[in-house]
Amino acid sequence: MLFAWMLATALVASPAPDCGLTIQRDRVRDLTAWKPQIQAYSQRHYGENTWQLDPVAIVLHYTVSKGFPWNLVNTAHFAGETPGLAVHYVVDGDKIWEILPPTVRSRGAYGINHRAINIELVAMEANDLARRPKTLATAAKLTTCLMQTYAIPRAKVYSHEAVSKMDPVRVPEVKDLLNAKPYGKSDPGEANMRTILQQIPPEVE
Ligand SMILES: [Zn+2]
Repeated sequence: MLFAWMLATALVASPAPDCGLTIQRDRVRDLTAWKPQIQAYSQRHYGENTWQLDPVAIVLHYTVSKGFPWNLVNTAHFAGETPGLAVHYVVDGDKIWEILPPTVRSRGAYGINHRAINIELVAMEANDLARRPKTLATAAKLTTCLMQTYAIPRAKVYSHEAVSKMDPVRVPEVKDLLNAKPYGKSDPGEANMRTILQQIPPEVE
Protein backbone atom coordinates (compact mmCIF):
# COMPACT_ATOMS: atom_id res chain seq x y z
CA MET A 1 0.00 0.00 0.00
CA LEU A 2 2.71 2.43 1.04
CA PHE A 3 4.79 1.29 -1.92
CA ALA A 4 1.87 1.90 -4.30
CA TRP A 5 1.41 5.40 -2.87
CA MET A 6 5.12 6.16 -3.24
CA LEU A 7 5.09 4.89 -6.82
CA ALA A 8 2.05 7.03 -7.70
CA THR A 9 3.67 10.09 -6.11
CA ALA A 10 6.88 9.50 -8.01
CA LEU A 11 5.02 9.21 -11.31
CA VAL A 12 3.13 12.45 -10.75
CA ALA A 13 6.19 14.37 -9.55
CA SER A 14 8.79 13.05 -11.98
CA PRO A 15 10.16 15.76 -14.27
CA ALA A 16 11.42 15.15 -17.82
CA PRO A 17 14.65 13.12 -18.06
CA ASP A 18 17.72 15.27 -17.49
CA CYS A 19 20.23 13.08 -19.43
CA GLY A 20 22.83 13.60 -16.71
CA LEU A 21 22.64 17.39 -17.07
CA THR A 22 22.12 19.63 -14.06
CA ILE A 23 18.86 21.43 -14.76
CA GLN A 24 17.82 24.10 -12.27
CA ARG A 25 14.14 24.54 -11.50
CA ASP A 26 14.29 27.51 -9.13
CA ARG A 27 13.18 30.06 -11.76
CA VAL A 28 9.89 28.76 -13.10
CA ARG A 29 6.52 29.92 -14.36
CA ASP A 30 3.56 29.31 -12.05
CA LEU A 31 1.83 26.52 -13.99
CA THR A 32 -1.55 27.07 -12.30
CA ALA A 33 -1.67 30.54 -13.84
CA TRP A 34 0.17 29.62 -17.05
CA LYS A 35 -1.85 26.65 -18.27
CA PRO A 36 -5.30 28.29 -18.78
CA GLN A 37 -3.69 31.35 -20.39
CA ILE A 38 -1.54 29.42 -22.85
CA GLN A 39 -4.53 27.16 -23.59
CA ALA A 40 -6.58 30.21 -24.64
CA TYR A 41 -3.58 31.53 -26.63
CA SER A 42 -3.30 28.15 -28.34
CA GLN A 43 -6.98 28.22 -29.27
CA ARG A 44 -6.70 31.74 -30.75
CA HIS A 45 -3.49 31.19 -32.71
CA TYR A 46 -3.56 27.50 -33.61
CA GLY A 47 -7.18 26.41 -33.16
CA GLU A 48 -6.07 23.89 -30.52
CA ASN A 49 -7.76 24.18 -27.14
CA THR A 50 -4.94 22.75 -25.01
CA TRP A 51 -1.86 23.72 -22.99
CA GLN A 52 -0.25 20.33 -23.61
CA LEU A 53 2.81 20.07 -25.84
CA ASP A 54 3.85 16.96 -27.74
CA PRO A 55 7.14 18.39 -28.98
CA VAL A 56 8.21 17.65 -32.58
CA ALA A 57 10.74 20.50 -33.02
CA ILE A 58 13.25 22.61 -31.09
CA VAL A 59 13.78 26.35 -31.66
CA LEU A 60 16.97 28.13 -30.60
CA HIS A 61 17.22 31.82 -29.67
CA TYR A 62 19.43 34.41 -28.03
CA THR A 63 17.98 36.56 -25.28
CA VAL A 64 19.25 40.04 -26.25
CA SER A 65 20.28 40.45 -22.61
CA LYS A 66 23.48 40.50 -20.58
CA GLY A 67 22.11 38.40 -17.74
CA PHE A 68 19.21 36.09 -16.94
CA PRO A 69 16.06 37.19 -18.82
CA TRP A 70 13.63 37.62 -15.92
CA ASN A 71 10.90 38.82 -18.29
CA LEU A 72 10.53 35.16 -19.34
CA VAL A 73 9.52 34.33 -15.77
CA ASN A 74 7.68 37.48 -14.72
CA THR A 75 5.81 39.15 -17.60
CA ALA A 76 2.01 38.91 -17.46
CA HIS A 77 1.29 39.85 -21.09
CA PHE A 78 2.96 40.71 -24.39
CA ALA A 79 1.73 42.48 -27.53
CA GLY A 80 -1.70 43.04 -26.02
CA GLU A 81 -2.53 39.49 -24.93
CA THR A 82 -1.83 36.96 -22.20
CA PRO A 83 0.22 35.08 -21.17
CA GLY A 84 3.62 36.84 -21.01
CA LEU A 85 6.62 35.61 -22.94
CA ALA A 86 8.21 32.40 -21.68
CA VAL A 87 10.39 29.65 -23.11
CA HIS A 88 11.20 26.17 -21.84
CA TYR A 89 14.91 26.58 -21.13
CA VAL A 90 17.46 29.35 -20.57
CA VAL A 91 21.17 28.50 -21.02
CA ASP A 92 24.02 30.65 -19.68
CA GLY A 93 27.52 29.16 -19.64
CA ASP A 94 27.21 25.72 -18.06
CA LYS A 95 23.89 26.58 -16.38
CA ILE A 96 20.44 25.45 -17.55
CA TRP A 97 17.17 26.71 -16.09
CA GLU A 98 13.85 25.06 -16.91
CA ILE A 99 11.18 27.79 -16.98
CA LEU A 100 8.41 25.51 -18.26
CA PRO A 101 8.32 21.71 -18.58
CA PRO A 102 8.73 20.52 -22.19
CA THR A 103 5.23 19.00 -22.07
CA VAL A 104 3.60 22.42 -21.59
CA ARG A 105 3.29 24.94 -24.44
CA SER A 106 5.47 28.06 -24.18
CA ARG A 107 5.25 31.48 -25.78
CA GLY A 108 8.72 31.80 -27.25
CA ALA A 109 8.49 31.53 -31.04
CA TYR A 110 5.44 32.98 -32.76
CA GLY A 111 4.07 30.51 -35.31
CA ILE A 112 5.35 27.28 -33.74
CA ASN A 113 4.53 27.38 -30.02
CA HIS A 114 2.05 24.55 -30.57
CA ARG A 115 4.81 22.16 -31.71
CA ALA A 116 8.20 23.31 -30.42
CA ILE A 117 10.42 23.40 -27.37
CA ASN A 118 12.05 26.84 -27.10
CA ILE A 119 15.59 27.35 -25.78
CA GLU A 120 17.05 30.81 -25.08
CA LEU A 121 20.81 31.37 -24.93
CA VAL A 122 21.97 34.36 -22.89
CA ALA A 123 23.73 36.78 -25.29
CA MET A 124 23.22 40.28 -26.68
CA GLU A 125 23.47 39.28 -30.34
CA ALA A 126 25.04 36.70 -32.69
CA ASN A 127 28.68 37.79 -32.37
CA ASP A 128 28.37 37.97 -28.59
CA LEU A 129 26.93 34.43 -28.56
CA ALA A 130 29.74 33.18 -30.84
CA ARG A 131 32.21 34.31 -28.14
CA ARG A 132 30.47 32.11 -25.54
CA PRO A 133 31.65 28.57 -26.39
CA LYS A 134 30.48 27.20 -23.03
CA THR A 135 26.91 28.41 -23.65
CA LEU A 136 26.97 26.90 -27.16
CA ALA A 137 28.31 23.58 -25.80
CA THR A 138 25.65 23.45 -23.07
CA ALA A 139 22.97 24.25 -25.66
CA ALA A 140 24.21 21.33 -27.79
CA LYS A 141 24.03 18.95 -24.81
CA LEU A 142 20.52 20.09 -23.86
CA THR A 143 19.34 19.89 -27.49
CA THR A 144 20.79 16.38 -27.77
CA CYS A 145 18.96 15.34 -24.59
CA LEU A 146 15.63 16.69 -25.87
CA MET A 147 16.11 15.13 -29.33
CA GLN A 148 16.66 11.74 -27.71
CA THR A 149 13.84 12.10 -25.19
CA TYR A 150 11.20 13.15 -27.74
CA ALA A 151 12.61 11.48 -30.91
CA ILE A 152 13.12 14.84 -32.60
CA PRO A 153 15.31 14.58 -35.74
CA ARG A 154 18.18 16.96 -36.48
CA ALA A 155 16.20 18.51 -39.35
CA LYS A 156 13.65 19.76 -36.81
CA VAL A 157 16.14 21.81 -34.82
CA TYR A 158 15.32 25.30 -36.09
CA SER A 159 16.63 28.81 -35.62
CA HIS A 160 14.09 31.44 -34.64
CA GLU A 161 15.24 33.14 -37.84
CA ALA A 162 13.97 30.20 -39.93
CA VAL A 163 10.65 30.03 -38.04
CA SER A 164 10.07 33.79 -38.37
CA LYS A 165 9.95 33.53 -42.17
CA MET A 166 6.60 31.73 -41.62
CA ASP A 167 7.33 29.66 -44.74
CA PRO A 168 5.87 26.12 -44.54
CA VAL A 169 8.27 24.96 -47.24
CA ARG A 170 11.21 25.73 -44.93
CA VAL A 171 9.46 24.96 -41.61
CA PRO A 172 6.39 22.77 -42.22
CA GLU A 173 4.97 23.28 -38.69
CA VAL A 174 4.53 27.07 -38.93
CA LYS A 175 0.98 28.31 -38.56
CA ASP A 176 -1.01 31.21 -37.17
CA LEU A 177 -4.73 31.77 -37.54
CA LEU A 178 -4.57 35.52 -36.76
CA ASN A 179 -1.50 36.65 -38.69
CA ALA A 180 0.81 34.30 -40.58
CA LYS A 181 3.04 37.00 -42.10
CA PRO A 182 6.85 36.80 -41.79
CA TYR A 183 8.18 38.79 -38.84
CA GLY A 184 11.93 38.86 -39.39
CA LYS A 185 14.02 37.54 -36.47
CA SER A 186 17.75 36.89 -36.79
CA ASP A 187 18.48 34.79 -33.71
CA PRO A 188 20.56 32.84 -32.84
CA GLY A 189 22.64 33.38 -36.03
CA GLU A 190 23.57 30.90 -38.76
CA ALA A 191 27.15 30.38 -37.57
CA ASN A 192 25.93 29.68 -34.03
CA MET A 193 23.38 27.18 -35.36
CA ARG A 194 26.18 25.38 -37.22
CA THR A 195 28.39 25.37 -34.11
CA ILE A 196 25.62 23.83 -32.00
CA LEU A 197 24.54 21.25 -34.60
CA GLN A 198 28.17 20.17 -35.13
CA GLN A 199 28.40 19.31 -31.42
CA ILE A 200 25.40 16.99 -31.52
CA PRO A 201 26.79 13.43 -31.87
CA PRO A 202 26.20 12.02 -35.40
CA GLU A 203 24.47 8.92 -34.01
CA VAL A 204 21.70 11.20 -32.73
CA GLU A 205 19.54 11.19 -35.85
ZN1 LIG B 1 13.99 34.40 -30.65
